[in-house]
Amino acid sequence: MTNEQVWQAVLGEIEVSLSRANFITWFKDTFISSFENERVVICVPNAFVKKWLEEKYHKNIINALENVTKQKIKEIIYKIELKKGNGTTFQINNSEQKKEDTDSTEIKTPSRFPNATVINNGMGNGPVNSNNNNSGRFGLNPRYVFDNFIVGKGNELAHAACLAVVNNLGKAYNPLFIYGGVGLGKTHLLQAIGNAVSKKTDKILYTTSEKFTNNYIQAVTSGKAKEFKNLYRNVDLLLVDDVQFMGGKDGTQEEFFHTFNELLQNDKQIVLTSDRAPKSIPAIEKRLVSRFEAGMVADVGKPDIETKIAILENKAKEKNCTLDREMLLYIAEHVQNNIRELEGALIKVIAYHQFKGITPSLKSVKDVLGDYISNIQTKSLTPKDIIEAVAKFYNITYKELISSGRKKELVWPRQISIYLIREELNTSYPTIGNELGGRDHTTAMHAYNKIYTEVKEKGNEKIKQEIESIRQLFGNSY
Ligand code: ADP
Ligand code: MG
Repeated sequence: MTNEQVWQAVLGEIEVSLSRANFITWFKDTFISSFENERVVICVPNAFVKKWLEEKYHKNIINALENVTKQKIKEIIYKIELKKGNGTTFQINNSEQKKEDTDSTEIKTPSRFPNATVINNGMGNGPVNSNNNNSGRFGLNPRYVFDNFIVGKGNELAHAACLAVVNNLGKAYNPLFIYGGVGLGKTHLLQAIGNAVSKKTDKILYTTSEKFTNNYIQAVTSGKAKEFKNLYRNVDLLLVDDVQFMGGKDGTQEEFFHTFNELLQNDKQIVLTSDRAPKSIPAIEKRLVSRFEAGMVADVGKPDIETKIAILENKAKEKNCTLDREMLLYIAEHVQNNIRELEGALIKVIAYHQFKGITPSLKSVKDVLGDYISNIQTKSLTPKDIIEAVAKFYNITYKELISSGRKKELVWPRQISIYLIREELNTSYPTIGNELGGRDHTTAMHAYNKIYTEVKEKGNEKIKQEIESIRQLFGNSY
């Protein structure tokens, strides 16, 4: 076996145990440069990847190497070296430096920003008001900083990538694409980048894809297309939240594509968020998908219990309230879906105790949260929820999905619905058939088996990702 073959086999083993985003991020452009006497030198493109492989994936790599070569591996050395013929030259400073730079992320006084012309040119592209009641400059919520972002298993990749971007603006990972379910911290991270970078430049633009679309249409209809172009193409950092809403809007995608290219060519940083992976955004142009994927794609997932407790502890402290661990544990265990709900529960607890002027106890916490928790818990998942999520994902209506129509755009979502209902709820095939507009149970069985084969036997990555994204949609709706 050549080194190349060994490494391909090793990557094959590692790939199945990681999310696609993680795999691509950490293993792209890696290779074995020497393999002698049980000693392997693995080349990686930068210090950031080196650190992660050493700290997080070392064991996986050794195991896979030993499996593939059937021999003991004594030592692995990770070396920064670019593959020949690979044009990328970005380099991330050593990790010590990175840490220092990012430890303090509070926002500087506004006096450093004499001319925030970038976002205030009278075209209505000013601060975006999302649901964060943000009031800071650039439309950024000053509360969204790295300092109060708790890092845990579900978000460490995205968090690390964001720090790398702040420290190597336009050079480390461009674009950076962050995706994951509702309420898991995407907007927080995106704006934390903005807030951190606002110390270095005032050419920052934060927008949502909806705002971008509206402004674009407005600009075109009022003969201000040129101003629009100038505005978006003259920034050091472009932050676009929720790009999934760009699907299907052709003119906007065209404009976005050109903006994108122009910024990338000039090494200007772009960071995007979405509720699903680039490939899974419906009705989006292929060339945009490949642009989105060209830098780094990082996912955020649900937090584990320890992360949830740390988040609660931190938020409680911010609000000058201390809760014992058993109370925090109770909240963390019972509020499952996302961090936004977790915050909601905590605010309720704090408000109640302050209002009553009593010290929190486990019993009082349980009392106040009783309704809140049973509200989120008793709303258990139904086949209808799943069908709704699938329809939403593929941009069709519920009615169309369960109709008798046999167009490909309907058949596929229908099959996916069947698969998910069976997987999630273990519903019988006749019942599934009924839920889907009175279909025969054999149809349901056939569809389930078909998708099962793709996902579980063939490991079809694209379908797996689609399904994961849909799971996140209904995972947050009940
Ligand atoms: P998303 O954009 O993914 O829907 P948000 O960024 O709006 O989610 O996060 C929802 C809420 O949860 C925000 O108030 C945010 O500050 C908080 N939050 C999310 N993740 C974290 C975290 N890791 N640490 C602290 N707060 C968090
Ligand atoms: Mg958001």
